[in-house]
Amino acid sequence: MNRQKHSCDVLVIGGGPAGLAAASCAAQSGARVSIVDDNPHLGGQIWRGEHQNASNQEAALWLRRVQEANVNFIAGARVFEQPEKGLLLAETFDSVLELRYQKLILALGARERFLPFPGWTVPNVMGAGGLQALVKSGLPIQGKKVVVAGTGPLLLAVAAYLHKHSAKVLLIAEQAKQAQLLAFGFSLWRTPGKIGQALQLKRELLGIPHRMGCWPIAASGSEKLECVTLRQGAKTWDVACDYLACGFHLVPNLELAAMLGCALHKGVVRVNETQETSIADVYCAGEATGIGGLELSLVEGQIAGFAASGQSASARALLSERKKQQRFADALNRAFALRDELKDLPTADTIICRCEDVSFARVQTQSSWRAGKLQTRCGMGPCQGRICGAAVEFFLGWQPESVRPPVFPVKVGSLIQSAETAE
Ligand SMILES: Cc1cc2nc3c(=O)[nH]c(=O)nc-3n(C[C@H](O)[C@H](O)[C@H](O)COP(=O)(O)OP(=O)(O)OC[C@H]3O[C@@H](n4cnc5c(N)ncnc54)[C@H](O)[C@@H]3O)c2cc1C
Repeated sequence: MNRQKHSCDVLVIGGGPAGLAAASCAAQSGARVSIVDDNPHLGGQIWRGEHQNASNQEAALWLRRVQEANVNFIAGARVFEQPEKGLLLAETFDSVLELRYQKLILALGARERFLPFPGWTVPNVMGAGGLQALVKSGLPIQGKKVVVAGTGPLLLAVAAYLHKHSAKVLLIAEQAKQAQLLAFGFSLWRTPGKIGQALQLKRELLGIPHRMGCWPIAASGSEKLECVTLRQGAKTWDVACDYLACGFHLVPNLELAAMLGCALHKGVVRVNETQETSIADVYCAGEATGIGGLELSLVEGQIAGFAASGQSASARALLSERKKQQRFADALNRAFALRDELKDLPTADTIICRCEDVSFARVQTQSSWRAGKLQTRCGMGPCQGRICGAAVEFFLGWQPESVRPPVFPVKVGSLIQSAETAE
């Protein structure tokens, strides 16, 4: 493996909206700023693909700001280890990068939450955002019958995207209760921009059934998905389809922050008024501090970028906007809270950890995440519990335990370099 060295004043990990905002604001101070991201292009989850010919004005604006501010972009590099304070290691396709920094901004984003049910591992059952990402990367979806199910606003965004790309979206099944969603709708008066977005989505989805209090309980098919079974109240029925796009809201990516020693609180990275974590000179912004949507990610990113580069007045000027967006985030998370009935989704032989093929019956006999790992290998496979961890937390109440490096599976050569650097 090659070894390469890079140093900067402010290092931003994550090139999504929070990272772009953080980097461009930090660079206004004249600091040398770099963004590192494991994707080949900037944009994160929501602006994936916008680097080519941004169709989204906001994406175009932030991508241009980063470019004009001379922010250095290190693409395709995944940060996995901290040999010492101020030094991180990232693995690329063929090298290990040593990244030295004065200030660090974590903009790590979130991932989808999957709740296993019988048949969830059948081919063509996918995360809602996952299917969207595949279509953005070229998967042909024209004419395919898709059921979109689970919970959260991402379902509507994905359904609208797939519909626009000529998929036949048969149904959107949202587990949240209608009353919760109505209350959420009324709470939007404080953020009029969101009302506009919601109405736009409604228009785009005209004619597509949207059932509330409805969720998938099984998926089946001999070689790939053929049918999804849905439940709404006492009624269950089958829908023949080609894809099930299914996600149960989002969970923050916390592993790297936890490895650095940043304090966590209620499943998110704890930050102070200026987005600084419990570790001095380490800031965090975006979904890793709590699921709150694009606008909150952007404002948190700006505050972190200004604060990390000594522009405190500019950071403070944004505090009231953050408060407004935080209220929206609180309402969002209340509206899409998981209902208890979903705890009945897995049957005894439902696979919970698909990396290590561990059934629900086996994990159920364990008392904690640690015991589950030791006795059944649940969470010990390539995803390192990123998928099954959130599921067992919901089903069994297991809390995640300490995170040890490397935070992602890496090549042996990278591990050797990591040991050499530490020495
Ligand atoms: C799959 C998915 C699809 C989504 N689609 C939509 C949508 O269509 N519409 C919508 O409104 N919202 C969508 N969202 C929500 C949206 O992502 C958030 O609202 C917000 O934009 C998040 O911004 P962020 O900068 O915090 O994180 P992200 O945009 O997730 O960016 C984080 C970046 O950090 C990178 N990263 C993380 N850890 C490391 C590491 N160790 N080393 C290197 N890089 C790392 C990630 O690869 C990612 O590129 C989606 C979320 C997900 C998970």
